[in-house]
Amino acid sequence: MQYYSLGKQSPNVNFKTAAITGQAPDKGLYFPTEIPQFTAAQIERFKTLDKGSLAFEVMKPYVGGMIDDASLQQICAETIHFEFPLVPITENIFSLELFHGPTLAFKDVGARFMSRCLGYFSIQEKDKSKLTTVLVATSGDTGGAVANGFLGVEGVNVIILYPKGKVSPIQELQLTTCGQNITALEVDGSFDDCQAIVKEAFMDGALNEKYNLTSANSINVARWLPQQLYYFFAWQQWVKQYQDAEGNYPAMHIVVPSGNFGNICAGMMAKASGLPLGHFVAACNANDVVTRYLATEKYEIHPAVATVSNAMDVGNPSNFVRIMEILQNNFSQLTHALSSYSINDATTKATITRVFKTDNYTLDPHGAVAFAAAEIFLAQEAKVNTNANAQNNNHRAIILETAHPVKFPEVVEEAIGEKIEVPASVQFLLDKAKVSIPLAANYTAFKHWMMQN
Ligand SMILES: *Cc1c(COP(=O)(O)O)cnc(C)c1O
Repeated sequence: MQYYSLGKQSPNVNFKTAAITGQAPDKGLYFPTEIPQFTAAQIERFKTLDKGSLAFEVMKPYVGGMIDDASLQQICAETIHFEFPLVPITENIFSLELFHGPTLAFKDVGARFMSRCLGYFSIQEKDKSKLTTVLVATSGDTGGAVANGFLGVEGVNVIILYPKGKVSPIQELQLTTCGQNITALEVDGSFDDCQAIVKEAFMDGALNEKYNLTSANSINVARWLPQQLYYFFAWQQWVKQYQDAEGNYPAMHIVVPSGNFGNICAGMMAKASGLPLGHFVAACNANDVVTRYLATEKYEIHPAVATVSNAMDVGNPSNFVRIMEILQNNFSQLTHALSSYSINDATTKATITRVFKTDNYTLDPHGAVAFAAAEIFLAQEAKVNTNANAQNNNHRAIILETAHPVKFPEVVEEAIGEKIEVPASVQFLLDKAKVSIPLAANYTAFKHWMMQN
């Protein structure tokens, strides 16, 4: 398995190079030269395979021999070492809870897989003079997952830039209390300032001379591809619940709260490789470039606007080009495979309140965007299916609950009128002291700090 650049101006590379460099020299995203195809017999076997073995079988073709089987098995086992339960919210809408990892967000899976791959490659590296340095800007969730995923990984340093005062208390503790090979820079500015500094760093000759810089966002194949696993785990639970004696089960439609579109794109890859999934719905907040594109065939990017589901405040989703590649850049194939709805902040908050009251389930703002989109989608499906057979089973959907509500206490506690309990798994953070390095929001200050260290 090789990877080509969607920019089409760079040579193909193997998994190792794609994972270490993140992006192709022509700034294109890497994409696998072929999408692995699972046979019907394999899919049948996947129904009951344990999570670790399933993860290994799904990831192995993508790694293309760059990691030996025993090590890859170990990496997979560590990556998915927590629960991914599919729980009912209403009769027809289920929540795939992806927040049972160490930092309470779905990004743990990608970050853990990527960190362990880079750790493996760095041990092989003969030239130890340049440390691999992961540089990442975060609006909250990415930084915590990356810090936790890379903590203690030998040969890799992590530098996180986060906007001062703009991440929630739990998120800040997750970023700033790791120590060891993790450094948190508290930037006196916005998330966009952090991201601008990181972008400039990747183009800075002197800095790249001193460090092996790599990024840890979902453009990196080692972070993006393992996200397919959620869909396999959800499908296993769906089949277990709904499969009849003939082996039939209703379609599992999937609603994904989307920002950079890495997560949903991974799901569409899983489907393209043979996993029998239903329709995909991209649930967006006010940042609706894809929603509008599907309606108008016009791709118009705007600067990101701030919303209560801030992990999805993305003006120009980087992974959308990969979705187009999966669907052969064909607009009618795209609209056949994908729908999208944009949900505003008022509806998001009202949804959190309503679902808490009527269904006794606490959504986080991102899950609430997905839930509201799922309701619209299912209502439209019902209209399409009214005269179809009364037994029609095509009326259920799952939403991906991408973060624990405690990560967004201000919005959620106001919406439900109660305090959210801090889960036992992160209680220990509350006793830790924050350690961060304050930094002015400009590149000169950042570079000065980097060249001194
Ligand atoms: C990152 C994130 C998203 C968006 O995921 P993408 O892969 O960028 O589309 C949604 N919800 C939460 C909680 C996140 O942290």
